Amino acid sequence: MANSRKDKTRNAWLEMLAKHKFDAEAPATDQIWSPSLECASRDELIGIQNDKLRILTPFLYENSDFYRRRFDKLGLTPTDIQTVDDLTKWPVVDKLEMMEDVKERPPYGSYSTMDEELWNKRGWMLFSSSGSSGVPRVFRYSHIDRDLWEWANARAIYSFGVRSSDTVFLASGYGPHVFAWGVQYALQRMNVASIPGGGMTTDMRANLVERFKPTVLCCTTSYALHLGRVMQEKGVDPAASSIRMLFVGGEPGTGIINTRNRLKNLWGAEIREFYGCTEVAPHSGGYSCSHSEVSEDLVATHLMEDHQIWELVDPDTLAPVKEGERGITVCTSLNSESSPQLRFNVGDYTVYSTEKCGCGRTHVRAMGSFAGRSDDLINLRGIKMYPVQLEQAIRAVPNIGDEYEILIETIDSGLDIMTARVEHTEDISDQVINEIKTQCEVTVSVEVLPPNTLPKTEFKAKRVRDERAK
Ligand SMILES: [Zn+2]
Repeated sequence: MANSRKDKTRNAWLEMLAKHKFDAEAPATDQIWSPSLECASRDELIGIQNDKLRILTPFLYENSDFYRRRFDKLGLTPTDIQTVDDLTKWPVVDKLEMMEDVKERPPYGSYSTMDEELWNKRGWMLFSSSGSSGVPRVFRYSHIDRDLWEWANARAIYSFGVRSSDTVFLASGYGPHVFAWGVQYALQRMNVASIPGGGMTTDMRANLVERFKPTVLCCTTSYALHLGRVMQEKGVDPAASSIRMLFVGGEPGTGIINTRNRLKNLWGAEIREFYGCTEVAPHSGGYSCSHSEVSEDLVATHLMEDHQIWELVDPDTLAPVKEGERGITVCTSLNSESSPQLRFNVGDYTVYSTEKCGCGRTHVRAMGSFAGRSDDLINLRGIKMYPVQLEQAIRAVPNIGDEYEILIETIDSGLDIMTARVEHTEDISDQVINEIKTQCEVTVSVEVLPPNTLPKTEFKAKRVRDERAK
């Protein structure tokens, strides 16, 4: 009996995934991959989300130990959560809760809806989170999921304007990072040429750009800066190279206007961004479109609402905020067989707009893109700020080096102080102090170092060192 409920709910979920899958193999128009989904009315989108939720909750209950335990503990049954409006009955799941589960049930935790027999039948791939805070977590996704994420990513990359006339250079390690593999598979589905750039030095990658002339560079924001500088050192102007578009992801990027402008000037290229969170879904949750630059100092990122429900909540109360108010992202993932999820706290700050975009898409937009995770918050003597604010401030200083370091430490008197170590040929301390004061309302000490003193950031920037006495 139990088995038949498991199978019945699984089959219903797989049928539901198939029901809302349109234009899976190829784009329907020359502008938009799946227009029936990407340009659906807001009511139609909520209809799709409700349709999926109604089938998802019994599937999770019957097939995932983590979810069954949580439903039982909360005194809820799957029928309590049938629509988007019901979601608030389900308290947000955070990273800590997931990590506890992994600790108690290593090595994967118990959130997945697959048992070992089914994993082996389907085939799978393993990925891990970047572990920017805490221990990296590992995730498995089945090959049914791969088919779904290829399609989702293809839709996102198509919206950037990448076409089969392009050659995409993925300047990324091909470790267990879902970003690189997800892009790689999507490009195959899109019939777009790709050059996998794993296992190469930056010097080799710079030569590769010169020699094979890719048109799109895919990497983290930090790496796009680093590679461009290495090319300059070799006497090559990145702006004069074949690269016409930077496709960035993995860290806050396009929303930090001074970093975006720095990249645009360096490469003379358009910038498009992937936004997502490995812990909640294997594919992009957000992506830029042709209208992502709303104005000179505002970019917008669409969120994929037929595949996911993106709520915005108050960081303290976790209650939903009104459209136009700032909050942190919470995601319900509706596009996976092995690990759909209910209300995971992704925790990035943004502001939503459901106004229809100039590109024709109706999916909600994160205005100003994303400005870092709520758990990155720095509290210095009661003054709160985010690393992205410091980045925006430092990069406002003309000709300042790409690398910088923020050191927070406790001095002998017991006071916590912040020092910004930056690179410049001139003494620009006052400018840095003023910019940080304006952005973050805090006074810092500044050390100006000669160019090329600080270690070079390659893949992902970790610029804040907190060495305070605990
Ligand atoms: Zn758009």
